Amino acid sequence: MLNKMTAESVHFEDFKLNKQLLNAVVDQGYKIPTPVQQKTIPAILAGHDIIGIAQTGTGKTAAYLLPLLYKIKYAQGEIPRALILAPSKELAIQIFENLIQLSKYCDIRSVCLYGGIGPKTQIEQIEAGVDIIVSTPGRFLELYRKGVIKTKSLNNFVLDEADKMMAMGFVPQIREILEKIPRKRQNLLFSATFPEKVQFFADEFLEFPQKIEVTPQSTPAETIDHYYYKTPNVKTKINLLWTLLQDDSFDKVIIFTKTKEIANNVFKFLDRKLSDQVRVIHGNKGQNSRINAFNDFRDGKVRVLVTTDVSARGLDINMVSHVINFDVPRLYEEYVHRIGRTGRAEQAGIALSFATEVEDLHLREIEKIISTKIAERPLPPQVDIAKTPPDESRDIALEIDNIRRRADPEFKGAFHEKKNKQKSPFQKQKKSFRKRR
Ligand code: AMP
Repeated sequence: MLNKMTAESVHFEDFKLNKQLLNAVVDQGYKIPTPVQQKTIPAILAGHDIIGIAQTGTGKTAAYLLPLLYKIKYAQGEIPRALILAPSKELAIQIFENLIQLSKYCDIRSVCLYGGIGPKTQIEQIEAGVDIIVSTPGRFLELYRKGVIKTKSLNNFVLDEADKMMAMGFVPQIREILEKIPRKRQNLLFSATFPEKVQFFADEFLEFPQKIEVTPQSTPAETIDHYYYKTPNVKTKINLLWTLLQDDSFDKVIIFTKTKEIANNVFKFLDRKLSDQVRVIHGNKGQNSRINAFNDFRDGKVRVLVTTDVSARGLDINMVSHVINFDVPRLYEEYVHRIGRTGRAEQAGIALSFATEVEDLHLREIEKIISTKIAERPLPPQVDIAKTPPDESRDIALEIDNIRRRADPEFKGAFHEKKNKQKSPFQKQKKSFRKRR
């Protein structure tokens, strides 16, 4: 069974990407490509125009950045060869941050352009030589009109969140931009939804596009009850987990964690308490150990299985009494995969999520995808609520800012402000330009 899973899985190594990109993917912690990446990356590499219907949370940004970076390969000449348009400054920054991470081992120069600040620094960056531009439509046109941006090599064009662009009235600007860039180009259009406006636009500007749609599996079995607990930090999650497992009705439980380190820690904790009633499956475990753990759990020899999404994929485990999301998945579709493991014949399965403040926001997005309300359960009174360590608080605040920025272009995150005062990716990037030149 495990062999079958391995044979059928798609890996990043299966794509025609280079070592620099694959190493960056590893650093990002991406283990296997998401569905949108599996479909989009080969199609872009084959040179097709693309209409990608995919929401945030599906991994769509890396789905176009990786093949784009592969095509651009390395710094060349002075003028840009790729343009990524985003409807807001915040989204542009987010894409740019992703771009910087994924291109960390490539010698590629990128800039992020948006309004609301003077253009001087942005102009300097462009004039220093640039390969990829991420921009909002307005600022791009402004700098084009000033003669700063040369468009004749812009043969790669990405329009992200096309539906938002249309809704915000950007069509005239985008049209104008498309008149300035070469006709012979590859167009990649991404949109969370596909209303008529986007359809018309795609018909007008794309050439024989491949339409790639990843509709999240949106209807989990109706026999599943969804609940969540507000847990401020990891320590409190552990305390809650232990409290819940005192209840005998938790007799076949899968616990999902976001990383193998967390899986290991949870396993070690439970193994001490529940001697020989727990198994763990994650990427660092050998094939035999994984098969044994899986069999013991399936056959009811042990009560609890701790695993990551990647390791559990393809495993034929279902009919469990409880699925516990020790961490709420950031790739929202994983939620549906995870809870598909529970729900026994004639009997409701139970999915429980432990949510920090930021995971609470992710759950609200997951509710939209599954069209189901996830009800809050109060923490049992015996659960000890631990204090959040400063590092954990900082990570949570940063992630909250990122989510809010994405949802609301006007949002100025308190944490983000601070971060800017310290050192933004732009400042770091500028430094590396100087070094190179
Ligand atoms: P996006 O839909 O592009 O906004 O991506 C949503 C989140 O998924 C981001 O935090 C990405 O860094 C992350 N992500 C993208 N691709 C993968 C992958 N293959 N495996 C795990 N996480 C990913």
